[in-house]
Amino acid sequence: MSQTGLLIRAHGGFFDVETEAGMLRCRARGRLHLDGIEPLPGDRVVYEADPHHAGFGILTDIAPRKNAFIRPNVANLDQLVFIATVARPETDPYLIDMMSVVADASGCEFLLCINKTDLVSARALEELYHNCGFEVMSVSAATGEGLEQMREALRGKISAMTGNSGVGKTSLLNLLLPGLQRETGEISPKHGRGRHTTRLTELFPLPDSGYVADTPGFASLEFNRLVTVEPENLADCFPEFPSGRCRFPDCLHRSEPGCAVRMAVETREIVPSRSRSYLRLLQDAQSLKEY
Ligand code: GDP
Ligand code: ZN
Repeated sequence: MSQTGLLIRAHGGFFDVETEAGMLRCRARGRLHLDGIEPLPGDRVVYEADPHHAGFGILTDIAPRKNAFIRPNVANLDQLVFIATVARPETDPYLIDMMSVVADASGCEFLLCINKTDLVSARALEELYHNCGFEVMSVSAATGEGLEQMREALRGKISAMTGNSGVGKTSLLNLLLPGLQRETGEISPKHGRGRHTTRLTELFPLPDSGYVADTPGFASLEFNRLVTVEPENLADCFPEFPSGRCRFPDCLHRSEPGCAVRMAVETREIVPSRSRSYLRLLQDAQSLKEY
């Protein structure tokens, strides 16, 4: 009889599936790994008992995904948590804007967590993104400030953290997953990244409910590698842009006459850094179309 579960870990040809009866180790049904689709943590899978190995299962199908990412290899992310900081290493707002677009275009919620607020107040950045319509919170892995709020925001969802090396992703993960205790690092100029890049992703259950991918960060922070967005849809990922009020319905908000977005940039209703990020991402989205 077939049953369904959540794939939380893949390693060495085995797949660990969270089922109603607990964790079940499965292998994929022979032929071509389920028609060429590699099962990923976060996949809802169908399995049945392995007739040849008591206590093991066989994966027979994967439910359609709402999204899938590479490095971390994870499917069906509900929420992308971007860790930023105004302390060292100060986050480039462009990265925040880019990842919010990646989340939106992938059908994920986006949560901005500003860490290290014990060192520098994040009030201004928090306000900026709050005013744009994003969920944003200030936290400190050092003092525990904001941790309860963060736990609340992760409850019941499959989340993954991302952000530059050194912003405190591992420190926060260790606080959220008390059993994990991964090694945090001082910021190394030589080995800016690479500490975690070879490990396989795994979903860790949160103490309340929900899961968080244990691999902090994306190996690639190149927009076009993470997601494909049609140029004409990009402005929809900027919730504070009044794109519906432009004279032309196909306005790309560069320098078209009657552009409500350009007007709002001029009157400073739209923050200059947000406008710059939009134009930069628009170029990337357009360059992809030219091929
Ligand atoms: P990751 O590269 O994003 O995983 O960052 P780590 O968690 O390894 O942290 C990088 C450095 O920042 C370490 O030295 C941490 O102790 C430090 N750190 C992390 N969070 C905080 C914080 O909230 N406040 C302060 N003062 N230091 C922090
Ligand atoms: Zn416009």
